[in-house]
Amino acid sequence: MGNIIDGKGLAQKKRALIKEKAITFTRANGRPPGLAVILAGDDPASTIYVRNKKQACEKTGVHSYDHHLATDITQGELLALIERLNDDSKVDGILVQLPLPSHLNEKEILLKIDPAKDVDGFHPYNLGRLLMGDPALMPCTPRGIMYMLQEYGASIDGKDAIIIGRSNIVGKPMAIMLMMAHATVSIAHSHTRDLARKISGSDIVVAAIGKAHMIKGDWIKEDAVVIDVGMNRTEKGLVGDVEFDQAKKRASLITPVPGGVGPMTITMLLENTLIAAQEHIK
Ligand code: NAP
Repeated sequence: MGNIIDGKGLAQKKRALIKEKAITFTRANGRPPGLAVILAGDDPASTIYVRNKKQACEKTGVHSYDHHLATDITQGELLALIERLNDDSKVDGILVQLPLPSHLNEKEILLKIDPAKDVDGFHPYNLGRLLMGDPALMPCTPRGIMYMLQEYGASIDGKDAIIIGRSNIVGKPMAIMLMMAHATVSIAHSHTRDLARKISGSDIVVAAIGKAHMIKGDWIKEDAVVIDVGMNRTEKGLVGDVEFDQAKKRASLITPVPGGVGPMTITMLLENTLIAAQEHIK
């Protein structure tokens, strides 16, 4: 594999460990760790993501409680469902697949989730704890990236890192996690000037934009670590935000798309569910 990070292989190894812990949990508590998965409507991409998450649960001994709701579910009905799941002692984690149909108020729904069951790590309480340097449940994608960097022995302390993208679910929490690991972090976005120059001075590049091959291979510094979060469907299939073939000639480590960040994200969802379950029974 050379310098290519095998996210799929790493995810499999980590899931085997999670499975062992899930079995131990089930023996001790007479029930498996439980994840409620809420999907409103039939968006094709969301349907695939939810199916993958449920399959991953089954394979690791986490029980998934399926809540496939009609597209025209009301805000009140969805809030009432979350309230019931918050109170359900068999449910350790609650996942609301985003995006929700446009008539629903996403912010109000995410706020309704009990932070102790917020396995996506999107609740302001959990993001606030991360910001304060006292993390509890952390967002899965950046957490999976930190895990990959650690497993591959990438050095972070004192390095210059740039994150392209400032979403609440990837860019911002990624910046905080890298900063906590003592990198010096820049966050770039659509108003950033001279992106190529900034990237070419960075030891760690995390691309979370959602634009196919926007980051050119010759912008990458020699021996940089390149993490590609982007998932862009093109006629050539799924591709990342980075020009992979060119960038891999320069990078010391690089994630492919698919097979890089994606499998680790679901793995961290399972890990968060287990953490929530262990806290829940305390
Ligand atoms: P998002 O909320 O759409 O954010 C995209 C970010 O990219 C924004 O901050 C935007 O800047 C920035 N951006 C857009 N055009 C840019 C440009 N020309 N130069 C610099 N920055 C630019 O996206 P997201 O939810 O973070 O997701 C990003 C990508 O990661 C998507 O492809 C998504 O599918 C993928 N993803 C993958 C996983 C996984 O598990 N593999 C998980 C989550 C997301 P502004 O803020 O200025 O608009």
